[in-house]
Amino acid sequence: MTSTDPQGAGPASPTAEASRAPLRAAIVGAGVAGASCAGTLAAAGWDVEVFDKARGAGGRLSTRRTDHGWATLGTPFISAKREPFRSQLREWTRQGWVAPVRGTIWQGRATISWAEAQLQNHYRPTIEPSQLVRQLLGQARLHTKSRVAALQPRTLVMENGDLKGDYDCVICSVPSPQAIPMLDALPLLRERVSGVRYRPIWSFLMRWEGGPAADVIKFDDHLLNLAVRQPTNGPGVWSVYSSHEFAETYLEASVEEASTRAASALMGLLGLPWPVEVEASHLWRYARPHSEVGGFWVGDRENRVALIGDGIAGVGVERAWESGMRLAQALVQARDELLI
Ligand SMILES: Cc1cc2nc3c(=O)[nH]c(=O)nc-3n(C[C@H](O)[C@H](O)[C@H](O)COP(=O)(O)OP(=O)(O)OC[C@H]3O[C@@H](n4cnc5c(N)ncnc54)[C@H](O)[C@@H]3O)c2cc1C
Repeated sequence: MTSTDPQGAGPASPTAEASRAPLRAAIVGAGVAGASCAGTLAAAGWDVEVFDKARGAGGRLSTRRTDHGWATLGTPFISAKREPFRSQLREWTRQGWVAPVRGTIWQGRATISWAEAQLQNHYRPTIEPSQLVRQLLGQARLHTKSRVAALQPRTLVMENGDLKGDYDCVICSVPSPQAIPMLDALPLLRERVSGVRYRPIWSFLMRWEGGPAADVIKFDDHLLNLAVRQPTNGPGVWSVYSSHEFAETYLEASVEEASTRAASALMGLLGLPWPVEVEASHLWRYARPHSEVGGFWVGDRENRVALIGDGIAGVGVERAWESGMRLAQALVQARDELLI
């Protein structure tokens, strides 16, 4: 296809044509970091493709469908310590997608309100958390069930050996230990994230009768950490989160063994009789980083590859979101350099 310049004075120069073509980005990982990066770039006119190995967007904000609705085995709460994420949460509240957490916490055998627990700045999704992430993607194109095996300059190598290339920028937004095996061709980046460690969490959907009449149970225990009542699943369905120590002990255990151990610990802590029904479980091998690189992203300018996510910026939805958004803003500003 040939194009002419706007004055009709003949064919456009290659440089002028390049400056009009949308820049192309490939992003690996459709968690909150990858999605905020993708949506920000797409809103600035970039052609953005996002590849995720899972069946949908969300990452650690993904949800589980149940007979009664949806439930989360990942992030239960979203909090904002500062701008610009505070504004983002206000906007999501206005849209009816999140709401400030209300209700009561059972902690140390007493029930207190969220206000007393000084957790006023916590929000809960009122739509499926994965849908929140889907919204962040905006006009970016999402490819699900698309596992990336390696990154090369401007190029993705897919698990089946296919090459997807000629991107102006490749961005990797997965937990750092999962990024490292993809970075053989990019030793500078591999070196930057080699020290990042994550800790695991087992989470369970459990149902039981009785127990504290609260919305959240905070355990003071070395096996279990938290239980959060699931609002859309009728009475008595809870997401129960293990401690890191529990998950490290049962890292290679079967689902049955981890579920039985957690259910038994729960009954002991709440003093309830059997049975506890375990409806679903998930091991988050890379649940939360306990060290990070620092800053919002790390980049290999020459090869046009950057890394984002909570392994770079620090744990939590806020840091992950900001990591993606800040990189996208920097890329949009650097547009002229990228065209060289
Ligand atoms: C149980 C649990 C509870 C938590 N509680 C809270 C909380 O209360 N508050 C809070 O702020 N934070 C919480 N967090 C942390 C928070 O969820 C994360 O910090 C944040 O969601 C990280 O987002 P991310 O985009 O960096 O990574 P992720 O959400 O992990 O996204 C990475 C994506 O990359 C994809 N991927 C990985 N490898 C490949 C590959 N090779 N090819 C293609 N795709 C790939 C994955 O499928 C995933 O979708 C919790 C986390 C867990 C697990």
